[in-house]
Amino acid sequence: MSVTPLLLLGRGTDPDSERGVECPGELPPASDPRLVERAETAKRALGTDVFVLGHHYQRDEVIAFADVTGDSFRLAQQAAARPEAPYVVFCGVHFMAESADILTGPDQQVVLPDLAAGCSMADMANATQVDECWDALADAGVADVTVPVSYMNSSAAIKAFTGRHDGTICTSSNARRALEWALGGERGGEKVLFLPDQHLGRNTAVLELGMTLADCVVYDPRKPSGGLTREQLHDARMILWKGHCSVHGRFTVDAVADVRRRVPGVRVLAHPECTYDVVTAADEIGSTESIIRIVADAPAGAAFAVGTELNLVQRLAAQHPDKTVVFLDKTVCYCSTMNRIDLPHLVRSLESLAAGTVTNRIVVEPTTAALARKALEQMLALP
Ligand code: SF4
Repeated sequence: MSVTPLLLLGRGTDPDSERGVECPGELPPASDPRLVERAETAKRALGTDVFVLGHHYQRDEVIAFADVTGDSFRLAQQAAARPEAPYVVFCGVHFMAESADILTGPDQQVVLPDLAAGCSMADMANATQVDECWDALADAGVADVTVPVSYMNSSAAIKAFTGRHDGTICTSSNARRALEWALGGERGGEKVLFLPDQHLGRNTAVLELGMTLADCVVYDPRKPSGGLTREQLHDARMILWKGHCSVHGRFTVDAVADVRRRVPGVRVLAHPECTYDVVTAADEIGSTESIIRIVADAPAGAAFAVGTELNLVQRLAAQHPDKTVVFLDKTVCYCSTMNRIDLPHLVRSLESLAAGTVTNRIVVEPTTAALARKALEQMLALP
């Protein structure tokens, strides 16, 4: 590693800045007109020592500094693809940085520019609740035939639970393949415990694997035995955790009808974290990557209403001025936690690293990391 110490970066309100001495760890004011220049300078000084990953839901001002952009699946692959970079700055949310730490080498350090960038969906399942759920399945006599499939949007502890019980992680791009693997020949499960997003689990099972809504039950961690009877657990093929995305869960069928009235010829694209009612009212259901592809491949003049995070929808609209791209619902807003990573936080991370200080490192405890890695590697090996 060869990092050039960076001392003459910017001048904030701190007296040290007036002397030209940067203070690693200090958050620059958002009003600093030199933020872009500061980020460029720090990134240049770090060179190949830093690898910046940017999730599609990040702000434009942050995406501008990403070496790679993608959804959580692509970023999980990419995190492992640059072993020579000692620092990985993950512009996304906490569970993504945890996955990056799990998949990168022991000499690499993963930084999350703002530790408050969590995910409300990931927070809807904790390790104690999930262990209690597994005990309830065991009491009902179905744990032995159940395979856990956990969405990437979960904590490292939930991924470790999944690895401990020989399950797999999935993303919205490969959820179908994950379910086929879990219920298919090689793994041979009879049921799936799907964590923590009930909507992705239900939409994939019913709309892509041909199950019925009656094949799905919802396990509520706040109720004894999840609120399910032994008979319900025996009859179900999909046991869905009662979790959801607080952004995608807000799109409504009324919004689909409204945009059809407002935008002639519009095609409605909905992310599979939206409710079953919304995705069945839409024209297409697609992961983040497939939504990007559908819009890019459409002819000039095409019109889309997109039901996913607003930063991405606005970027798609800007990148395709020859097409109409609108947000599906005027009342839904940005993912507030994704949005916490802004240019000041990125500048602080890059300048700190350039000065030799690692700020906001994400470290997953080794035993948890080993089990979670097993589940993540199963996902990366899905056929
Ligand atoms: S968009 Fe939803 S699932 Fe994604 S980080 Fe935000 S709250 Fe979590």
